[in-house]
Amino acid sequence: MGQWEKNIRHVVPYVAGEQPNQPDMVKLNTNECPYPPAPGVAKVIKEMDSDRFRLYPDPEAAELVNAIAEFYQVSPENVFVGVGSDDVIANAFMTFFNSDKPVLFPDITYSFYPVWADLYKISYETPALDPDFRIKKEDYMKENGGIIFPNPNAPTALFEPLDTIEEIVKNNQSSVVMIDEAYIDFGGESALRLTEKYENLLVIQTFSKSRSMAGMRIGFAIGNEKLIRAMKDVKYSINSYTMNRTAIAAGVAAIKDREYFEKITHKIVETREKTKVKLKELGFSFPESMANFIFATHPDHDMTELFEYLRSKHIYVRHWNQPAIRDYLRITIGTEEEMERLLQAIKEYGIC
Ligand code: PMP
Repeated sequence: MGQWEKNIRHVVPYVAGEQPNQPDMVKLNTNECPYPPAPGVAKVIKEMDSDRFRLYPDPEAAELVNAIAEFYQVSPENVFVGVGSDDVIANAFMTFFNSDKPVLFPDITYSFYPVWADLYKISYETPALDPDFRIKKEDYMKENGGIIFPNPNAPTALFEPLDTIEEIVKNNQSSVVMIDEAYIDFGGESALRLTEKYENLLVIQTFSKSRSMAGMRIGFAIGNEKLIRAMKDVKYSINSYTMNRTAIAAGVAAIKDREYFEKITHKIVETREKTKVKLKELGFSFPESMANFIFATHPDHDMTELFEYLRSKHIYVRHWNQPAIRDYLRITIGTEEEMERLLQAIKEYGIC
């Protein structure tokens, strides 16, 4: 081994869901939105003046920050934007999880958290969820270097009520608590208003799910001005120009169309509720989903096998080969037609 190899920063990277590309596929594996972005997005992209690409974009992405601030009725000083919420969370880990005490997140959660923690050499503990996959708030009432979990949680889709969130934030005022609200727009109640009351709370959201923009990569955090300033200082120490001109313009168009946003999120919730009924009829069970996916299991069937069967039919759902969740499939809510094709394939497999 060469001397230089000894100094490599070794990491085990996060593995994203596969991105297959069959023409006939039903893609329900990465929690994308089945509907196009707001119509204004296509319009601004068509009208984009590529001559402007000669120039660097605004490092503050002020237009987008202002539009997000207006939508959520906060001040622009309370908003941080990044290249998807993954970028925002990575930045927040680096900025705030910086003590010698362990950071806390649940054992079953977004599997990117331990990857960032390892990358930045942050120690962490992973309190176990209860047998119903609920967060036990008592586990978060001890000394720590920070706390993060999604609400609703992923991949369980379970939503924790706001008073649980408030209790955790209130009892941890010496560390930063991050609530990852990637899936909040599908029926949950955001902790956003609590950021006015608690300066240690950072709420993170994304345009990838409820605004149909996973491919454009836009995420944001809302929190106290001091938190946001600290995140910007770290960001400007790595790369000032993360938000490109197209993403800024498309993001503004997306967030300005409240009516379209409400229409598609409502439609997804409606399809989710119908799908829950049909899956139950087939004998599946699942934690009560408040997200754009369902985490389903079946007492009589092997989910690894069903996953492979669906895959062979070009119907993609997500499965993890980990002991605690091996018996589950995470199924993204697609269009009504896509869910019908999924249910049909499940019946053809032999679950009826
Ligand atoms: N948080 C959670 C809980 C997620 O499931 C995802 C999607 N993989 C993200 C954050 C990141 O989403 P994005 O980077 O597309 O905003």
